[in-house]
Amino acid sequence: MTNTIKINDYTDLYGTSNLKTMFGDKASEIGKIPFDIDNPFVDLNSIAKILGLTVSETDLSVDGFFKSQGKMIELNKNVSEGRKRFTLAHEMAHSINSADKENIQFRKFENYTPAERRDEQKANQLAAELLMPNKKLLVYLMKEALNSIGANPSGFDNFERDRALSEVAAKLKVSSQSLKYRLQNLRILGK
Ligand SMILES: [Zn+2]
Repeated sequence: MTNTIKINDYTDLYGTSNLKTMFGDKASEIGKIPFDIDNPFVDLNSIAKILGLTVSETDLSVDGFFKSQGKMIELNKNVSEGRKRFTLAHEMAHSINSADKENIQFRKFENYTPAERRDEQKANQLAAELLMPNKKLLVYLMKEALNSIGANPSGFDNFERDRALSEVAAKLKVSSQSLKYRLQNLRILGK
């Protein structure tokens, strides 16, 4: 099977209108970031840089937080790369949605009010869209992974599915669990 997927840059990856919705006046600059199908993970650090965010890693008791003053994101350095990247995307989502808020946002779900919980869920949704944006790409990578383990892309079992998920998750530098949720939300995978 030939490679029919054609994604040259982040404009192709996110789509013009999504890019505009997510990044506003920074959309065209972010859209020019080149995309490499052999390294299909989203370059969050380049996006953060264009958004004017300063990202640092340190010892934290939470996964991370966004501080609107100074546009800073701090991440807990002591977690897996997939979790760290999801937190970075989550805090970037806060920076996009709540740049005018003065408060520092911590990821401690149980302490949130209902309104804050909705903000948190929105940030998680946007984080998933940032990290795993393109449905065609996700379908392509899953098929490729299923083929590579000798499974049939149109009829595979849960064991094969989980192997393919972990392969694709590694390529995208996300956790298998967040990839699974994303594929279920996009109706690429059943429940
Ligand atoms: Zn949050």
